[in-house]
Amino acid sequence: MPSEYCPSRHRTVRRLTRVVQVGNVGVGGANPLRLQSMTTSDTEDVAATLAQCIRLAEAGSEIIRITAPNKAAAAALKDIHRQFRAAGFAQPLVADIHFLPVAAMEAVEHVEKVRVNPGNYADKKKFAVLEYTDAAYAEELERLHEAFTPLVLRAKSLGRSLRIGTNHGSLSDRIMNRFGDSPHGMVESALEFIRIAESHGFRDMILSMKSSNPKVMVQAYRLAAARMDELGMDYPLHLGVTEAGEGEDARIKSAIGIGSLLADGLGDTLRVSLTEDPWFEIPVCRELASRATDLATLGAASASRLPVDPADAFSFTRRPTDRIELSTSCPAGSNETPRVIVRSHQSLADWQAVAKELLDVHAAQREVRAEGLLLRLDDPSHAAGLRSLRKALGPTVPSLWVETSLPVAEFPFEGTGSRLVVVKGFAAKDSAEVKAWAEACVRHDTILAADVEGPTVTALAKEFAAIPAGRLILTSSQPQNGLHATGTYRELARCAAVAKLAAPLWIRATAANAVRLDPGFQSRLLEAAVLAGGLLVDGYGDFLSCETPATTAKSLTLAYDILQGARMRQTKTEYVACPSCGRTLFDIQSTTLKIKERTGHLKSVTIAVMGCIVNGPGEMADADFGYVGGAPGKINLYVGKTPIKFNVPQEEAVERLVDLIKEKGKWEEA
Ligand code: SF4
Repeated sequence: MPSEYCPSRHRTVRRLTRVVQVGNVGVGGANPLRLQSMTTSDTEDVAATLAQCIRLAEAGSEIIRITAPNKAAAAALKDIHRQFRAAGFAQPLVADIHFLPVAAMEAVEHVEKVRVNPGNYADKKKFAVLEYTDAAYAEELERLHEAFTPLVLRAKSLGRSLRIGTNHGSLSDRIMNRFGDSPHGMVESALEFIRIAESHGFRDMILSMKSSNPKVMVQAYRLAAARMDELGMDYPLHLGVTEAGEGEDARIKSAIGIGSLLADGLGDTLRVSLTEDPWFEIPVCRELASRATDLATLGAASASRLPVDPADAFSFTRRPTDRIELSTSCPAGSNETPRVIVRSHQSLADWQAVAKELLDVHAAQREVRAEGLLLRLDDPSHAAGLRSLRKALGPTVPSLWVETSLPVAEFPFEGTGSRLVVVKGFAAKDSAEVKAWAEACVRHDTILAADVEGPTVTALAKEFAAIPAGRLILTSSQPQNGLHATGTYRELARCAAVAKLAAPLWIRATAANAVRLDPGFQSRLLEAAVLAGGLLVDGYGDFLSCETPATTAKSLTLAYDILQGARMRQTKTEYVACPSCGRTLFDIQSTTLKIKERTGHLKSVTIAVMGCIVNGPGEMADADFGYVGGAPGKINLYVGKTPIKFNVPQEEAVERLVDLIKEKGKWEEA
């Protein structure tokens, strides 16, 4: 297993890749991160697809992909391409191919790039558990070589590029047998195709490793980069989280996956896949790309290398941490799901307003609660407000987190009546301060959250190690020494490991930790998701607070949504919805909303809504139930990957899905 996948996990230093020309657009090397999207119209409807291409180009899509589900659709690309150019647009077009080499051979004649899925280009997915001997495996590769070679040779002679686009969930039986349904299998699947292309001297390739699960996706891209380094390959990466769904949840998943890879310097082009009109994808792409570009400047300016932090970058393990009792019913630490802390933007001088705001938010929320309320206390005369607030909130909130600049002697420990977390910043010289705060916290049955940078933990290792287990939390509300925020926390975790501290880590998405904090909520959402995502997928983070949204309600739901997006804590139904394309057999946007309305209260269920039977079942990955377009107006319903009901009329399919969930004992009344 390779050990490193990027030049730095603390600073954004972009991975150096070869330039692959997609028509007139260079991808990789020193080229800017390229933004792209995909049409959703029926490809054979040339007018509709052309209109979507134009709308996408005007929105800023630099590369436009169009599905070619059969030879006729691939042939339609000729007219679409000609008319697009005639309309004055120069953006390259890409054909998206699954299963049909014949469609690829037609498409390569007309467009600048062809995407193939190595899981199904030459393999029919049977979901069969087959045993392959080495000889049988070699024979399969030979068959693959024969199937893929004509496309490689034609692309080479026409000056086209190819994307080897692996999807988790549509790996071939051969790969599944040898490497499992894993990031490792995804990478090997792409390498099989790359080796064939290279055997013909063809290197104009871009790779992608998509999954609907951001954890799997991040690991697969990291592994792809690391394996390429080992093999002396430098192909650019196309980033994307697939089947992300719509709305804020989809943006969060994409930010976790794409944003955290970009922060590590991986990625040359990106697509944010939304079950919305495709032009809505571009502003999200642009924001993630601009953020990464700003970070890269920061990285280049301070390129010294730090030691690698202890997380396993290629498989998920939670960092082991001490148990902390926020209350008897709300323990925290690595054996628990990460806990959500919410910052109050109000002053303790008006404690009634603080209490009312949180109680109102809780009354309006069905499923989620603040497990800690974060406040500022710099004026000792507000101590009475803290005690009154505690009384007013009662057991609704397990803990109060009080950030303070007061000296220890003036801090009002007495009388808050339940679990208090004191949040205090320390510098490397503050040895006596740490000792005094630690002693006071132990004496008053209180927890200390130390706001520090990694080197401070190293300098004060002895003082922190003397604090009893369960009394210390580490956090870092400001990025330090030119590191990006994720790098700051990674460095903190590394220094804690060296100091043998198992103190839980509190991830704080603050304005100071943000790279580009525009006033809109989307910017705040993306910032928080990128910071938290890059840490959560590595098993870092026992507490999360999103402190930049303007309201407490938004801060609360955003934190829970990020934990769900990172697959760390499920508090509502998880949806896997394809973005739709020319194969889609029903109106996926309105259907997804209808399904959400009916099932949005189910806490432990994942539902896939997929536009077609060709790719849907393969790509719905780990969903519990599937709603898949089987034929025009007809839906097939799945339990896991097994089809249970066929050709259900679309008008009744949502209710039949509910019946199926009930039958399987997964239904709860709202
Ligand atoms: S699953 Fe959705 S996006 Fe994928 S090919 Fe089918 S309709 Fe298109």
